[in-house]
Amino acid sequence: AIILGLESSCDETAAAIVRSDRTILSHALAGQEDHHRAFGGVVPEIAARAHAELMTPLVETALADAGLTLNDVDAIAATAGPGLIGGVMVGLVTAKALAMASGKPLIAVNHLEGHALSPRLIDADLEFPYLLLLVSGGHCQLLRVNGVGDYKRLSTTIDDAVGEAFDKTAKILGLGFPGGPAVERAAAIGNAHNVPLPRPLKGADEPHFSFAGLKSAVLRAHETGQYRVEDIAASFQLAVIDCLYDRITYTLDRIDAPPALVVAGGVAANVPIRKMLEKLAAQRGMRFVAPPLWLCTDNGAMIAWAGAERFGMGLTDGLDFVARPRWPLDPHATPARGAGV
Ligand code: ATP
Ligand code: MG
Ligand code: FE
Repeated sequence: AIILGLESSCDETAAAIVRSDRTILSHALAGQEDHHRAFGGVVPEIAARAHAELMTPLVETALADAGLTLNDVDAIAATAGPGLIGGVMVGLVTAKALAMASGKPLIAVNHLEGHALSPRLIDADLEFPYLLLLVSGGHCQLLRVNGVGDYKRLSTTIDDAVGEAFDKTAKILGLGFPGGPAVERAAAIGNAHNVPLPRPLKGADEPHFSFAGLKSAVLRAHETGQYRVEDIAASFQLAVIDCLYDRITYTLDRIDAPPALVVAGGVAANVPIRKMLEKLAAQRGMRFVAPPLWLCTDNGAMIAWAGAERFGMGLTDGLDFVARPRWPLDPHATPARGAGV
């Protein structure tokens, strides 16, 4: 089957066409960095307006690049949540209109399921179940992925997401927006052992993650004026790596580990984090799978692929599907300490 996928839940507008045999026929993407840079973060109202302007031309580009018309597409998938609701509504309503005009089915995709299944788009050998570290702008979770639509959350952050910690650190250090890649670049030329920073929850007898204290420590260190920005960035990134390693091994020590360790979400684009996970997987005799960098941050191909997986199972949605600002992958997970997501 051929699936068109639309993404608009944060600040990338994207449309892509993917075939169920894992061929990516086209992917078009427009970032909105220039719209939000002056504000140091994504402004929801500006994002929604930009999505509305960009989405239809991107769909046309995706179809043209694939050499297809809407009639050649078997189904239209769109992120239906979670995310900034104005943006989500733009993508979903566009998909509904295309579905109505073409008579093709709509597939309402959970953005997090898009991230979670994206490694299967590039790795035909990745079978269920797998252990997934989902690290993004809004999430830090370990999940057991049992199948399409079947996720067991093993742990989550009790405060900030990892990407959020990268973005806040970038802002504190004046490294600009978007923060993750800027911190990684600065860290590459810094000394990771120069700035003493905490490792929140390291060694704790619970599975969860925490990053808020780390970000506050970055602020205090920066305010002393004693340290180079590059050294703070490198020390911050190493602290994140130490925390992730410690928390993942805690869980691995206590579960019947699946054969593969998989990482997805925007922070999965961070090369030192990928290297640590690769090493950890090798230590545990697990296969390591990480999508290419462009497939880690938000894109249309992962939504089209999640759509293809769902379409293959006969899962389509009605045109009355309502956008969801919150939509956990594991609806049975209870809040970690009442605070996490
Ligand atoms: P969610 O998927 O949880 O709804 P989101 O869609 O906003 O959140 P993604 O697009 O998946 O998040 O990821 C964006 C996040 O990834 C940002 O916080 C960004 O700073 C971070 N990020 C991107 N590249 C890197 C990198 N190289 N190193 C660290 N963090 C990165
Ligand atoms: Mg983004
Ligand atoms: Fe995302």
